[in-house]
Amino acid sequence: MLAWPRALLKTYLHIAFKPNLFQVSVDSKSKDRFVFWADVVAESAIEHAKRNGMSIVTVKSGGSPSGGKHIGNMNDQIRAFFIYDAVKRRGVPARLIYTNDDMDPLRTIPLSAPDGDGEWHSFTEQELSTLEKYLGWPYSRIPDVFGCHRSWSEHFNSVIQDGLKKLGISMENYNNSDSYANGVFLEVTRLTLSKTSLVREVLSRYQSTVEKDWIPFHAVCGNCGKITTTALRVDLENDTVEYECRGRVLAGKYVVKGCGYRGSSTLKEGKLPWRLEWVAQWKVFQVNAEPFGKDHYEGSWKSGQALAREVYGIEPPASLVYEFFLVNGEKMSSRKGNAYILQDILKILEPEVVKYLYTKRPMMQRNIDLKNVHLLVEEFDRFEESFFNKSSKEAERIYPVVIGTVPSEKPLRISYLLASYLVQFYPIEEAYKSLARAGIVGENVSEEDKNRVLLRLKLAKNWLSMFADSSKYLLKKEAFKIDLSGMENAIKNLAEKLSSLSDFNGEAIQNIIYSTARENNIPSSDFFRKLYLIFLGLESGPRLGYLLATLGKERVVSRLKAVINQME
Ligand SMILES: [Zn+2]
Ligand SMILES: [Zn+2]
Repeated sequence: MLAWPRALLKTYLHIAFKPNLFQVSVDSKSKDRFVFWADVVAESAIEHAKRNGMSIVTVKSGGSPSGGKHIGNMNDQIRAFFIYDAVKRRGVPARLIYTNDDMDPLRTIPLSAPDGDGEWHSFTEQELSTLEKYLGWPYSRIPDVFGCHRSWSEHFNSVIQDGLKKLGISMENYNNSDSYANGVFLEVTRLTLSKTSLVREVLSRYQSTVEKDWIPFHAVCGNCGKITTTALRVDLENDTVEYECRGRVLAGKYVVKGCGYRGSSTLKEGKLPWRLEWVAQWKVFQVNAEPFGKDHYEGSWKSGQALAREVYGIEPPASLVYEFFLVNGEKMSSRKGNAYILQDILKILEPEVVKYLYTKRPMMQRNIDLKNVHLLVEEFDRFEESFFNKSSKEAERIYPVVIGTVPSEKPLRISYLLASYLVQFYPIEEAYKSLARAGIVGENVSEEDKNRVLLRLKLAKNWLSMFADSSKYLLKKEAFKIDLSGMENAIKNLAEKLSSLSDFNGEAIQNIIYSTARENNIPSSDFFRKLYLIFLGLESGPRLGYLLATLGKERVVSRLKAVINQME
């Protein structure tokens, strides 16, 4: 990872104040100093808190509990965590909060969603038609389809928080439904409604659809339960709003019909429109920093900054814009069946590898290549190695955040690819024993290291069945004839040498393969390719000597002999 190039910084990092020229040069210099983007935002957040007389730095993220939140959505919470952590590492008191935006209306019914254990469930036709009537309802008032929580909101928020806990991340949770109902948002709602014409004026600079008589409040309909009502009149003496249930088009495309009911509601039984609610949260929770996806950058962030200054009298927080994740080159979508939540990804990757993914620079679109996920794991292993041999400034700064508690010695890791082949030969416990026999895992390994190796074997096994490119990584089970074309002698020599090798370890085998190729005047790459074909049915694989060591002498020699016999 490189330090932030200055030009990109200027585009992507928005500190919500206009510094004078002197500050610009000092700030840019100090930013080039950082190897971790979270430090840049943390410094801005600390400055923001200082300027505004706040003694504690608040880092916020938020989201609607609309269903299964895929790993791209989780950029919000996880990057917020890194900023919060960076503030604390500077010795500054900090809090990490999450607003569960559960007064938002259900816009569309997902075809599938994770249950309480984070396992995906496809809704039946009947379930889908039962859910139909809740379109337009606030998530907090929709029953839990799975029956394990009090509401749709609690269910899906708990799936999110469970996934984060598996990464060792927890945050203070605030449900918007509670904040409205218990009066935490009352003052800011009153403030908004007392400045209705100013709100319209500011928003109309960013949106073309602000109507002249628009009142920024959506009450929950007393008849049909939808929160897609239109406010007609506000009475700030009594904190009430008169409304009509007219329905709305949500996010420009989801049509929710109203029931036509007219009624009156208190300010605690409804919500501010999202663009205002977001800024209201900054004010109420005294937010100093918040990350958000680039979709908000052009719209709600621009209007949000103006609303903050002109309507709410606050300075917008330091921000971080992040790019989206692609999976296997495509956008994730639960409708397409390629949306993965943290719980899915933790079936194939260690928590520290998942966290590592989110430490990468935020303004680059990341493609997560699940078919070749071992490449990411190998990258992490090298990153970890560079921390322990002190060869990388990035690793020195970032590894401790990713791993949580830094172990006194480098953790034992086996190659993910080797693990993925071993579990095709052996059950997991047996695979572990084969690693011990081959000397890859020492005799006196700690309990933690043993568990790490067992976990990686398990993850690799899951990967094979869930995502791996089967043409590349799945061993061919059917018998195959191999054309030895001129390598017969070399294979014979190798079989002889290996059968008389007393210490059947990876390094020794690797050396013998090289020397056999040399003695037979065969390019070693050709010889290796042939051997991979013999043992895996594939043209490449993990370091061959180690693979053969784990397979054991008997199995290796008899396979080589079988191949020779088949030729004769
Ligand atoms: Zn539930
Ligand atoms: Zn209604």
